[in-house]
Amino acid sequence: MNLLKENGFQFCPKCGSERLFFQIKNLYCKSCGFVYYQNTAVGVGVIISRHAKIPKDSKISEISKDSEPAKSVKSTQELLLVVRAREPALGYYDLPGGFVDPGENLEQALLREVTEELGREIYAKLSRPKYLLSADNHYRYKDNTYAVCDVFFRAELEGEAELIPADDVESFVWCPADEIDFERIAFPSAKTALQLWLQKQH
Ligand SMILES: [Zn+2]
Repeated sequence: MNLLKENGFQFCPKCGSERLFFQIKNLYCKSCGFVYYQNTAVGVGVIISRHAKIPKDSKISEISKDSEPAKSVKSTQELLLVVRAREPALGYYDLPGGFVDPGENLEQALLREVTEELGREIYAKLSRPKYLLSADNHYRYKDNTYAVCDVFFRAELEGEAELIPADDVESFVWCPADEIDFERIAFPSAKTALQLWLQKQH
């Protein structure tokens, strides 16, 4: 599958020629010889946890109403989920994070995205993010599909922090770790990361 062909690229971005040849990972312009790769984009996300302040059997989360509690998870921790303010997956839950910009490393991108989405205070109160896993993702945006490699970290919130939803985040929720409604998580890659996080609690 050539994403460039599937996304409907018709002209050479360099010379405008229509004489394109789609190879496995790129397009080749027969007029000027230009080769264009739409490389895999890199996304970064973080599972932020904190120790729950409620008894384990309490039902406080709006997203837990209809969900089956996960099996045999012994956790009194809560995870921070954000509500997406934009398409794709508007209104679904996601992990804080976003795309790595040119010139950034993963840590810089994570710091920028978390700050943009939740305010300046939270990052200073986080433990040092530790690598969790990476997962393949496809991101559909404005009639174009991007291949994405999402890289996930985990971190704990140490102390209190005021969270201010902004940018592409509508709101947030602290969800008890054993009450996550996976039907409402936006992307398969985030589900994979959350499942691994839960497994590691055993
Ligand atoms: Zn060309």
